[in-house]
Amino acid sequence: MKRLYCEFFIGVAVLFFLSIVSYIYVTEELTPDYVEIVEINQVHSVISILDKVAHDLGQHRADEWFVQYAEENQLSIVAYSWESPELSAEIIDSLKQRRIYCDDMYSYFVVYGDGRQIYSIAPDLSKPIWEQIDFDDTLLWVFFYTTFAIYSALMLKILSRRFRVLEQTTLAFAEGDFAVRASEKPGDRLGSLNSSFNQMADKISALITSHKQLTNAVAHELRTPVFRVQCQLEMLEDLGLTPDQLNYAVGIHDDMAELELMIEELLYFAKMDRAVIPLNLTSPYMSEWLDKLVTNCQKETDIPITVNYQHEERASVDVYQLTRAVSNIVRNASRYAEQGIDVSVFRSDHELHIQVDDDGIGIPDTERERILEPFYRVGTARDRESGGHGLGLAIVAQIMARHQGRIEIGSSESGGARFTLIVPQALATDESSAGSL
Ligand code: ADP
Repeated sequence: MKRLYCEFFIGVAVLFFLSIVSYIYVTEELTPDYVEIVEINQVHSVISILDKVAHDLGQHRADEWFVQYAEENQLSIVAYSWESPELSAEIIDSLKQRRIYCDDMYSYFVVYGDGRQIYSIAPDLSKPIWEQIDFDDTLLWVFFYTTFAIYSALMLKILSRRFRVLEQTTLAFAEGDFAVRASEKPGDRLGSLNSSFNQMADKISALITSHKQLTNAVAHELRTPVFRVQCQLEMLEDLGLTPDQLNYAVGIHDDMAELELMIEELLYFAKMDRAVIPLNLTSPYMSEWLDKLVTNCQKETDIPITVNYQHEERASVDVYQLTRAVSNIVRNASRYAEQGIDVSVFRSDHELHIQVDDDGIGIPDTERERILEPFYRVGTARDRESGGHGLGLAIVAQIMARHQGRIEIGSSESGGARFTLIVPQALATDESSAGSL
């Protein structure tokens, strides 16, 4: 923010400086300096009067008038002879031709009367008026730059507020709130950025909605033919099959069962996504619930599963959904673990942590975010062996979001995967705030 402010301020100041330089160049170099012409004419008139006075009343009287003129105008006088080395040839030439040479603002070399001496008149810097003029000039610049600084700060405040609002909208959209849109009110928008974002958001959410509808419809439509194939297969078996044919029939049964499971997962995922399954919150004792869950999972694998509790904990959870989430994680672990799986339950900052460690191949850092996406699987060869569909963790992430919790993925001490499901012990009562992924 500070950097942005400095850039903005320096930009305005440099622009202003350049415009002043251009102005001076145009008014003084490209066109005659009219102020200087007027000033020269005025001093010239004074010289003419002094000539007349010298002629009528004598040089002495003209000198007195000249001194009086200098005093009244707060100027100092210095006399030079024509041979003075301090005077350049340009000054001498100008004095010979026009009897006046303009050195700077209010500074002149003049000759009058008998012309024996050259006088320089210049601001008498011991007089306070010149200091005052100098101070006023400086004050002008101070005013300019203070105005720029205030302007820059104000502009930046306005812009940064608008940027922040737009940033929050984009973040909310990125986190899955596809209904959020950027305000297009004149006081909120950043050029056409807000309306461009809204157009993009409309297109993306329409695309996602149609994609979800398609997946849901396909899953629904598949259920009936799967059921019919299963029925017909059973009827075929009842007709009496040869041992070879029976082997094929068993294979078809297995494949159909897998397809059915995938459809069931897909439909559950779609339901969770639309948040149509209500949260049925209770406060079970974790040890009781988890022991039952692990006993069930242990029936499906030979890899030993151990459970550790620091203390007896309770949390406000939907037991059915959390069972599904933890079972998914434990089943995944049992596919990859070599020697054992550890499930630990502990509390930290009013949050309940359910941590599942295995000693398998682990999950590379770069894949940890992505495996929560539906249908994403790490290495195709390895995953083909493990036989999943890539929906399990996506469902777990949805269940966690509905519990206002989260899922963390890391490495276990043995180098395998560590999945930690974290839920607040007391869920905020407004369940709608949980949202969906
Ligand atoms: P799947 O049904 O394919 O297992 P998941 O969503 O449950 O789908 O998991 C996504 C991917 O995450 C898996 O295909 C696998 O590559 C990886 N994964 C999940 N759990 C583990 C684990 N314990 N160890 C190693 N990789 C895992």
